[in-house]
Amino acid sequence: MPGVSTLGDGPNGKNTEGFLYAYKRGGEVKIVCICHGHFLTPAQFFKHAGGGDVENPLRLITVGPN
Ligand SMILES: [Zn+2]
Repeated sequence: MPGVSTLGDGPNGKNTEGFLYAYKRGGEVKIVCICHGHFLTPAQFFKHAGGGDVENPLRLITVGPN
């Protein structure tokens, strides 16, 4: 499963890594953060990294090896 990372845009933003789960049925995307092992939506993952409300959090999440 592909790794993902993001950096929140808020004052407490921190680089946060996780793994991407894409469910074929319904197309739902979930991300498991490495720090807690929690299942999060992309919006929740971005906020977990210290980000704010964004329209399309997936655009701010880097997918793949880096
Ligand atoms: Zn976490």
